[in-house]
Amino acid sequence: MEKLIITVGITGSRITRQQTPYIPITPEEIARSGIEAWKAGASVLHIHVRDPQTGFGAQDYSIFKEVTDRIRGETDAILCLTTSGIPGKNLEFQERLVPLSLNPELVSFDAGSINMRENVFLNPPEFLEMLAKETLAKGIKPELEVFEVGMVQTCIRFMEKGLLRPPLHFQFVLGVLGGMPATAKSLLHLSEMIPGGSTWSVIGIGLGQLPMAVMAMAMGGHVRVGMEDNIYYSKGILTQSNAELVGRIVRMAKEFGREIATPSDARKILNLP
Ligand code: ZN
Repeated sequence: MEKLIITVGITGSRITRQQTPYIPITPEEIARSGIEAWKAGASVLHIHVRDPQTGFGAQDYSIFKEVTDRIRGETDAILCLTTSGIPGKNLEFQERLVPLSLNPELVSFDAGSINMRENVFLNPPEFLEMLAKETLAKGIKPELEVFEVGMVQTCIRFMEKGLLRPPLHFQFVLGVLGGMPATAKSLLHLSEMIPGGSTWSVIGIGLGQLPMAVMAMAMGGHVRVGMEDNIYYSKGILTQSNAELVGRIVRMAKEFGREIATPSDARKILNLP
């Protein structure tokens, strides 16, 4: 099996300080948490930023720049910046593309719209087309976030139209309220639907994080953990850092016999330019 790429979703835009005191909010905290996770074995850092005053998700160029500059100054990690926008705020599409101007190696590409909790997560075809064209123009690889099975078909259709360039890289997101559940059958089905030669990783939300990670490890896929997706280390026990969640996967992978990919290994596996 290939070496294991561990991605960490550092903070997302949804979790509040009321839910956990450990969630990174300020640019300095987000960068520090990312650097610690990289030291623990994560090769890809998936980044959202927050308004330091309110703590809510933000989409400001200057905040993204501060976070990415700090991380780039201290690590060789692969940066995967979000284009998801902010839950409940229907941002202009152009605003969601702001992180691309920081030239990350990966950006998230949410491959369709979905009812998510009390909001509609809108990713209409015109937005996806705009995003796909921008990634092609800038040489950035889209990480194809798939919440349900029809989204794989959308990605294949985009590939056939020349808007996504193979080999594709999928990030299955399982256990979101409104999406496919975090089960073995979901993961197996999705992994069998993607085009040959693609790479894939999985996000299990909440309680699904560890079981999905273990399954992906055994199936030859890759793993994302982190406080964007899950704030608990075990039942009722909050995790104190992203590095703690990464460290557990590193230990388990070693026991299992899968080597951990460094960022340069991950660049080869993901076929990054
Ligand atoms: Zn995200």
